[in-house]
Amino acid sequence: MSSFANASDILLAALLFGPMSDSSAVPPADVACAGAGIAIDRAFDGGAFAACTIGADGTVTFDIRPETEPINPSPWYAARLTQASPVLRRVTLSYYGARHRYSPWLSVNGGAWQRLDVSAAAPDGSTVAIAIPAFAGSAVIAAQPIRPLADVQRQWASQQQAGRVALVGQFASRDGRPVPLFRHGPVDAANVHFFAARQHPPETTGAAAFDAFADALLAADPARRCPGHAFVFAPMINPDGIARGHWRTNAGRIDPNRDWGRFGEPETAGVGQWVVKASAGAKLVAVLDFHSTRRDALYSSKTASIAAQQFADSVGTATGLTVIPTQAAEGNTLKSWAESRFGADAFTVELADAHSPARAAAIGEAVARLYLEKLACPSAGDLD
Ligand SMILES: [Zn+2]
Repeated sequence: MSSFANASDILLAALLFGPMSDSSAVPPADVACAGAGIAIDRAFDGGAFAACTIGADGTVTFDIRPETEPINPSPWYAARLTQASPVLRRVTLSYYGARHRYSPWLSVNGGAWQRLDVSAAAPDGSTVAIAIPAFAGSAVIAAQPIRPLADVQRQWASQQQAGRVALVGQFASRDGRPVPLFRHGPVDAANVHFFAARQHPPETTGAAAFDAFADALLAADPARRCPGHAFVFAPMINPDGIARGHWRTNAGRIDPNRDWGRFGEPETAGVGQWVVKASAGAKLVAVLDFHSTRRDALYSSKTASIAAQQFADSVGTATGLTVIPTQAAEGNTLKSWAESRFGADAFTVELADAHSPARAAAIGEAVARLYLEKLACPSAGDLD
């Protein structure tokens, strides 16, 4: 069958979607392919694949391609499968421009994410086969568990309502989504700390660690513990890339973490210029930027302060992250920009792709505790 829905497939999709609840209803116009009792779409935050086809035996094949080239091989995919009958569904992921990297996760009818096994893989990683257990209704298969942008917004709205943070900046992404900045602590603080996440869309374990880090840090009321310090959070640097299901870049097809100091993109320019302004009368103490890659690592600096080295070593001991001190700053990453422009202690926190959201959160909480103890204002003594 064709990857483009023909008239009978659109009718089938309408029949499939008709009896579903509102939460699983998908307009036929959003159906990317349909047939053999299933309809498939990507009309949700993170939904992405280049094309889909449905074979005569009902096997669904996804063609997975990057948004631009050359690109870091982070082959993201996410698709919603809707079927009325509870049949086992075979799926093939076929990659262009990268090898299979992310083992699939599944959420059935909005339920908890569970890992799926890959039943067969080509030796070169160009294709993998997956059997999705029988389900009726809608299931989302994705490279990593998806946390909708609205959930992240709710987390920060509740921090605002609790009086722990103030919205101090809100920039518009290329697609018009909010890129917010939140501050905990006084406006006139002499010391500023800056934390960022979600530059690279598929890096969900780093994002989960950041979300838990922020909650844990704010729960400890660090401004009270560290008078004269403010803590600034940028939880969503690349919302367009996340919503579009990009492998790496924003809506302008630019890697945000190669744009710091250059500031050709609205998301990094908005956040970066705010940091420049905030640092005019204050010291930028430290920067943490949360990412994911194949294995746990904490990128530090060979010129880090004693407190920063102690923080990094304690994180390594507590969480198992490998501490990697890097050479003098270069390039246009947030870390290198913070080091070269401000002389800040800057870290890139990299979580392994394979962590569960719960494990990523536990690491984020440990990083928050150690940040307070070792780096935020070490002279304040041990936590009570
Ligand atoms: Zn990254």
